[in-house]
Order: sequence, then structure tokens, then C-alpha cells
Amino acid sequence: MDCQFYIVATPIGNISDISLRAIEVLKKVNYIACEDTRVTRVLCEKYGFSAKLFDCHKFNEKERSEKIISLINEGNSIALVSDAGTPGISDPGSVLIKELKENNIKITSIPGACAVTTFLSMIPRTTEKYAFIGFIPRVKKQQIDILNKYKYTNCVFYESPNRLIETLENISEEFGYSTKIAVGRELTKLFEEVKIGTVTEIIDYYKNNPLKGEIVAMVFAKEASDISEDKLKEKIRLLKEENYSDKDIAIIISKLYNENKNKIKKLVLNI
Ligand code: SAM
Repeated sequence: MDCQFYIVATPIGNISDISLRAIEVLKKVNYIACEDTRVTRVLCEKYGFSAKLFDCHKFNEKERSEKIISLINEGNSIALVSDAGTPGISDPGSVLIKELKENNIKITSIPGACAVTTFLSMIPRTTEKYAFIGFIPRVKKQQIDILNKYKYTNCVFYESPNRLIETLENISEEFGYSTKIAVGRELTKLFEEVKIGTVTEIIDYYKNNPLKGEIVAMVFAKEASDISEDKLKEKIRLLKEENYSDKDIAIIISKLYNENKNKIKKLVLNI
């Protein structure tokens, strides 16, 4: 083998989603470094890989880098795999890759399954651009900050099924109840499901249907508002003349024009 270190993508659900080249490499290497040896053993048994397995996960990646470099220097070939999909994509790998690069070790990546690309390929988008932010932060303020940063592009994230509804409620509160969302659940598996709708529709759906398994989601790109600040102020003035409360005006205007509620609140207070 000309290369001694391989990054190999493995299935994200359907065990047949593995490339011929990935099989060839995993059959030939001396060692497979994997997140969880129990998970990778299932793949090895299915495809007849006989390489020695050892764990390499986020808690021992640095230490395992030293072991991997020594093994390569002794003439061994090694593949890195994660529990599912492409290593280094919201999975361990980047610490090891940095160490290998610093030691001038050639790296070959064998492409394959990845939840983000599998999901995106099924979503009709009005703009090709997207940002992938990995696992969305758990804290509401951090969620809103990062989604605001990418609000004019499609923003894709991984989320746990236990937190999805709360995250969608935060999105609805900040960006408006009609914000468009897509959710992919259990992709490539028996209960694969893709839902697209307003954030309100998606919340309602998952309050009434099972929300289990693995999730990837996307907030569609917001269209740049075509209403000027002067026009917004004019609308606010009209509602004030009709004696609507400041709070109601902020809600009405932000929902009508899909504007950030806090931005409108500030405008309301300054009029
Ligand atoms: N490296 C993987 C990849 O290439 O997609 C991602 C690993 S990350 C630790 C695991 C997360 O990816 C899950 O919590 C889920 O958000 C997403 N994911 C993985 N498999 C999925 C699937 N079959 N359907 C939907 N989302 C999936």
C-alpha cells in the first residue's frame, strides 16, 4: 500500500452504504482506529475485515495520535473510522489529523456517507449556499447568536431529538413563526423521514408524532427584508396612533415583515 493512513467514511445507518474502495482499504490495513470498538466490530464482521481494532475517541485522541504515528513509523497501515459517517465531521479526527500533518504523514480520505450531505441532497433550496454549524449549541442565546450570523444562508445543524422542539421554539420566537425549516430523521434507515414546513408546522407535527432517532435540521435562508427602516417606522407610527401597546406593535410588525423582534422593539421605543 502506498499510503499508510486512511480516513474512511462508514455508513450512517444503512450498512450497505460503504464504498468498494472503503471495503478494499479496510480489508488491507493492519489497524483500524475507531470511536467505539463494539460499533466497528459489527461492520468488520459484516464485511470480513480482520484488522486489529483500537479505540480513538474525543477523550484519548491526542494520546492515540502518538500511538498511530509510532505504528506508521514501524511500517503499519492504519484506517480511522468513526461510529457513523465521515470522521472529523462532528466526530473525532481533527486533533489526530493535525498531529499527522505536523509529522509529514500522508493522509488519504476515502469519501462516503455523511448525514449533512445526505440530507442536503434531498432539500429543495432557493439558494445553493449553506453553512453547516455541527451540533447547535444548547444554550438559547448561543443558538440565536449563531443562527443570526448565518441567517441569510441556509443553516444546517445536528441536534438531539430530546432538544429539537425546544430549539425550534427558540427559532420561532427569534425569527418568526413562519420561518421555514427542514428536518431529516433517521436518514438511510427504516424510519427515514424528511419534513419541510414552517417552524410552527414542524413543532406541531413532532408534538403529535414520534421524535426519536438521529436528526439533522436546517433553517432556510431568510430573504433580505425589502422593507426599509423608514417604512417600518411609518407602520409603527400608524399602530401607535391606533393605541396598540408597544409590545403588541413589536409582535405584529416582526411577524408581518419577518423581522427580528428585538430590532422592532428598539424602533418602537424610539418613536
Ligand atoms: N460523522 C457523522 C457524519 O458524517 O454525518 C456525524 C457524527 S455526529 C457525532 C452524529 C450526529 O449526526 C447525530 O447526532 C445526528 O445529528 C447526525 N446523524 C448521524 N446519522 C444520521 C442519520 N442517519 N440521520 C440523521 N442524522 C444523522
